[in-house]
Amino acid sequence: MTERRDDSPDIPLPRASLIAYTALMTDESSDTLLAGYRRFRQDRWPEAKAEYEALAAGQKPHTLIVACSDSRADPALIFDAAPGQLFVVRNVANLVPPYEPDGQLHGVSAALEFGVKVLGVSRIVVMGHAHCGGVAAMRTGAPDSVRDFVAPWIAQGEPVVRRVAEAVEPDQVERASEEAIVRLSIDNLRTFPWIAEREAAGTLQLSGLHFGIADGILRALRGPGRFEALD
Ligand SMILES: [Zn+2]
Repeated sequence: MTERRDDSPDIPLPRASLIAYTALMTDESSDTLLAGYRRFRQDRWPEAKAEYEALAAGQKPHTLIVACSDSRADPALIFDAAPGQLFVVRNVANLVPPYEPDGQLHGVSAALEFGVKVLGVSRIVVMGHAHCGGVAAMRTGAPDSVRDFVAPWIAQGEPVVRRVAEAVEPDQVERASEEAIVRLSIDNLRTFPWIAEREAAGTLQLSGLHFGIADGILRALRGPGRFEALD
């Protein structure tokens, strides 16, 4: 079998991996992915090539963003960011758990540690968004089908959202809850000693944002509780 120069050499894989690979490439939804990739290679790569070649030497992103996995709130699109500028962590409901160096599998904390200590970002942004299903589930309870991981994950925000629901009018609960989760994540960022130290020294800035989806407007956390639309 002839190999293209840039193909990986054949390596024996476990059977499960082979099945997953075949399914990905023949699944209907991946046609959309492949079509997008081809547009990227055809339309964008020629002018982006030099930029990517320079980035191969290393990354120096200025900002670490914690955002929701929601497909409608993509930080790179909202900030019109180029490759290499944003170090992005996305999860259900843009949550930052508290600092717990207990040897368990803390994906968000690992990204924070790497972004702050190795990449030396100068800003961490927590970006919530409108109509967040994860935050809504903190009020209504997670569906039974997602008890393994989603339910315990969103439980960390439930007390905060419960307090919000008691304090504001019913028509304000959704957005106020989403804003409260941004504040919770920022509070939890400050439990990481190497984040708190850098913030106190003025070398790391923490920001909270909320993206409106339907109106495309970003609102920024000013002071302890107020979000204001950005110009
Ligand atoms: Zn969300």
